[in-house]
Amino acid sequence: MTRSEKPVLTGKTKGELAEFFESIGEKRFRAKQLFEWIYDRRVLNYGDMLNLSKSLREKLERETKLVTLFSRASQYSSGTETKKYLFVTEDNKSIEAVVIPEERRTTLCVSTQVGCPLDCKFCATGLMGFSRNLSASEIVQQYLLTQIDYPEEITNIVYMGMGEPLLNYDATLKSLRIFTAEETRGLSKNRITVSTSGITPRIYDLADSGLRVKISLSLHSAFDDVRSEIMPVNKKYPLKSVLESLDYYARTTKTRVTFEYTMFDGINDRDADVKALTKIIRRMPSKLNLIPFNSIAHMAPDGISAQLKSTPYDKILEFADKLRANNITVMVRNTQGDDIAAACGQLAVKHS
Ligand code: SAH
Ligand code: SF4
Repeated sequence: MTRSEKPVLTGKTKGELAEFFESIGEKRFRAKQLFEWIYDRRVLNYGDMLNLSKSLREKLERETKLVTLFSRASQYSSGTETKKYLFVTEDNKSIEAVVIPEERRTTLCVSTQVGCPLDCKFCATGLMGFSRNLSASEIVQQYLLTQIDYPEEITNIVYMGMGEPLLNYDATLKSLRIFTAEETRGLSKNRITVSTSGITPRIYDLADSGLRVKISLSLHSAFDDVRSEIMPVNKKYPLKSVLESLDYYARTTKTRVTFEYTMFDGINDRDADVKALTKIIRRMPSKLNLIPFNSIAHMAPDGISAQLKSTPYDKILEFADKLRANNITVMVRNTQGDDIAAACGQLAVKHS
């Protein structure tokens, strides 16, 4: 199967939809009407959009598409309400999204690429290599299709599924514009987090976009040599440049930056790490999430990837206490969905 020749109207911003309607001889305000049907009422069937004329509905049905992802499977993690969805694209690529309910929120984790080119040594998605960027529509559909299925209201979105969102900047930005649009029910800018491995120039761009969503840096080491070994992207954008861009992000958007720190036994859990980390966290309004390393044994890794082990949980708690003693805000994250390989960094799909 190849990708649709017909325009796909999910994933178009309101401005793009207005241009689209104009180009087919319709009034621009149709864009707002369609936008409301999709993102406020969550209707993905033109036939039900009753304030559009019958002839327009038929035309849209014939000449455009709203849904291109096929929902192949979904699976609950045992004993939790965490649910992983497997979608297949029109060109037969598989992508995943995960819904994670917590006490006062329900978070959707979206993918932005099929695979990832950045080759982080601890990440299942990195190990599968890179296939292609997702379109804005494919990112937005992960939200629409999971929300239509999942019994609770999705309140938060994190860009922490497969891929590096800032290497697919245009599609990521469009999806953010849609999620934060006033018509989109149930979501808001301060409940959306873009997670990045640190693509410095795009961090400046996102800061200047005016969107003011939250940003999270996958830090994983406060030392360039260690970070470069487990995250090759650090050779291109070393800590100094990434941290400067985050200072700018925090200043420009007036948001608090999150640092994600996956813990590897003997590699980034020493006292020297507490000290260096404290210095980084203190330089801007920020908080730190410590994450146990989730096994990627299902990917049969070799080299350094095969040697990585998680810091034991009690040592993670001790590490957190040492940081708290330095007045750092620290959370130790649990890893819901481990049993179905839906936890952070475990998302990878074997291609036929
Ligand atoms: N590419 C982006 C977003 C996707 S990865 C990024 O790197 O930030 C989402 C998060 O999962 C990142 O913080 C990443 O470092 C983390 N992660 C990847 N593999 C992991 C693993 N095996 N165990 C725990 N966290 C992992
Ligand atoms: Fe890509 Fe993020 Fe995985 Fe690194 S951690 S390989 S940037 S998806």
